[in-house]
Amino acid sequence: MKLAFFGAEGKAGSAIVRRLEAAGHEVRGIEVGDEPDVEGCDAAVDFTTPEAAPANVRAALEQGVSCVVGTTGWEPGELGALAAEKGLRLFVAPNFSIGAVLMMRFAQEAAVHFPRAEIVELHNEAKKDAPSGTAKTTAELVGGDPAIHSVRLPGLVAHQEVIFGGEGQLLTIRHDTTGRESFADGVLLALEKLGELPPGLTIGLETLIS
Ligand code: NAP
Repeated sequence: MKLAFFGAEGKAGSAIVRRLEAAGHEVRGIEVGDEPDVEGCDAAVDFTTPEAAPANVRAALEQGVSCVVGTTGWEPGELGALAAEKGLRLFVAPNFSIGAVLMMRFAQEAAVHFPRAEIVELHNEAKKDAPSGTAKTTAELVGGDPAIHSVRLPGLVAHQEVIFGGEGQLLTIRHDTTGRESFADGVLLALEKLGELPPGLTIGLETLIS
């Protein structure tokens, strides 16, 4: 596919672009100050900032191009409506790591049998927010208001354990992100499935994994 990539030089963007190009996609990087020109592209991808993403997505939709967005911390509802109006797709996922999405799914399944759980999320010290969005989503899926423990230390990337306790047994479900390349698998999957999605907004990688 011919892709426009907003934020291609960012930490996540640069790792993802390498994998997209290796998979055979042609990528046009769009940086701060560039015209948001996505003419002729099959899709646009955005990994920028919550301030920049809405304008980038709007510009792409106005040019008739569907979008895949990883930027977190913004509200996509209004632009989802614009996409629907134009018969285009807006796919937004707060976590593009397939392993993390499976970890949440398995935890939800385990919670049926183990009602007591606690969550430990561990991230690099650069991550300012705590608990992480993934930990909060996991807590909702598991139910029962599990305690969340947040660890911020150098040397960590992004890790999460869901520990279930029962009578005489423990079950631990753990996911480790060791590199930002991991997000590319989810982006590749979203691009592959984009045309099959209904027009308008779709949220979450779990909607694409059967
Ligand atoms: P980052 O390293 O700061 O990268 C952001 C990039 O976007 C920078 O290169 C920045 O350029 C560029 N940018 C800012 N405004 C722009 C605009 N108007 N047009 C084009 N490019 C623009 O941050 P990051 O760690 O890669 O994260 C980026 C976003 O992705 C964050 O919201 C993060 O939460 C999210 N993220 C999501 C996932 C997921 O799985 N969904 C995974 C990783 C990250 P300058 O440096 O020149 O300002």
